[in-house]
Amino acid sequence: MALNTGAIDWIEAHAHELEEVSDKMWELAEVGLQEMRSAELLTEYLRNRGFHVESGMAGMPSAFTASWGSGSPVIGFLGELDALPGLSQKPSPRREPVHTGAPGHGCGHNLLATSALGAACAVQEVMKQQNISGTVRYYGCPAEETLIGKVAMVKEGLFDDVDAVLDWHPNVFNDVRLHWSNAVNSVKFAFTGRTSHAASDPENGRSALDAVELMNVGANYLREHIPQKARIHYVITDGGGEPNVVPANAEVWYYVRAPERQTVEEIHGRLRNIAAGAALMTETSFEERFLAGCYSLLPNLPLTRMIHQVMEEIGGPQWTSEEKEFARIVAESFGPDQRETVIKARKAPAEVHQQLLHEGVMPFTEEETFGAGSTDVGDVSWVVPTGRFTAATAVIGQPGHSWQFAACSGMSIGHKGMKFAAKVLAEGGLRILSDSKLLEEAKEDWRKRTAGNEYKTPLPDGYVPPLDQLPRH
Ligand SMILES: [Zn+2]
Ligand SMILES: [Zn+2]
Repeated sequence: MALNTGAIDWIEAHAHELEEVSDKMWELAEVGLQEMRSAELLTEYLRNRGFHVESGMAGMPSAFTASWGSGSPVIGFLGELDALPGLSQKPSPRREPVHTGAPGHGCGHNLLATSALGAACAVQEVMKQQNISGTVRYYGCPAEETLIGKVAMVKEGLFDDVDAVLDWHPNVFNDVRLHWSNAVNSVKFAFTGRTSHAASDPENGRSALDAVELMNVGANYLREHIPQKARIHYVITDGGGEPNVVPANAEVWYYVRAPERQTVEEIHGRLRNIAAGAALMTETSFEERFLAGCYSLLPNLPLTRMIHQVMEEIGGPQWTSEEKEFARIVAESFGPDQRETVIKARKAPAEVHQQLLHEGVMPFTEEETFGAGSTDVGDVSWVVPTGRFTAATAVIGQPGHSWQFAACSGMSIGHKGMKFAAKVLAEGGLRILSDSKLLEEAKEDWRKRTAGNEYKTPLPDGYVPPLDQLPRH
């Protein structure tokens, strides 16, 4: 199938507008479940182009959908909205916060959200011009970093009528793989004991902090007896006030990850037993607060293959000498070994070893790869065939969730990756809308992979998204 230049032309013609939206969102840098102004920025753009917008669903004020067209097939594009705490950064190659301690787009979600926006509008335009039937839908998804938004939106049934979803993430390579991630549960254990003066009458105290510490000891012993790819990590979110007061309250926040949802549930159950054991030992009690849970990513071979072909046909961005110089300075902030590690881990072709900004597109193989992190795109991929890729918007080797990432996301390196991704999404979306064989193959692949493993929301009954999880700015 030849490139549908209509979509690519639309993105080129509106490149400046898209860069403006991206930069505005980058400046707003709102954290999870507080992305009201970012959502407003995107919905206004979509409303002005005739999309039907619905907002504030699944208990999240910043969640929205915007649809255009009617009937099937329905193609979905995902926009993520949230920034990360503490990563405020000027578009400078050296560490320079705009406001010290404020949030910043250290995961590039401003680029992600804007390219999906551009793709939705470009697809709409071509559907109009070429009389293509179906529906194009943009999903404004809050709180990806805390793994909440899409899981709650899936539970609400917002993806029930969608035929296929295309998604991407800012990264250091133009790449598409059959990639799996870990499923996860995010849960807090809050212990309650009895306070007393730690020196005068410690015998009257029952320390909630002791319970937290003993729980962590138990969890660290549990590590030996969980599957290799599983992960347990924790932070103590409340450890008491002063040493001379026996803490009546203490809290620990756990993530449990594993490739299979079932394994996450099993490890979570064992962790709950450990919490109960710690409470018994210390004569305290505990409550569990379930914050979030999500599935692993489910790859889709026909969509992945198609995306790779489209990426090759469009061709990755070219970088100017100014951008290469910017990248060179950014690269001074991390070790050269870090760059090599990333390149080797990806088994990148020889020429990539000479690059700071990725040129071209990674070769495609059908080898399935695994990353230990998690994303709530996982839940979408278990209910809708989902194709996913990455585009280079940052310097090879730089850490994710970093000021370096925030810097590149607010300047031309990020803009170029964003526009490239928008073109790939749009072209991919049009192929799905107009090639019923491709869509049927994608669905068949999805059916095979999910057979015998019906999706069941990880969220407990009565779950309410924790709007107060992150401090307000
Ligand atoms: Zn992230
Ligand atoms: Zn992200």
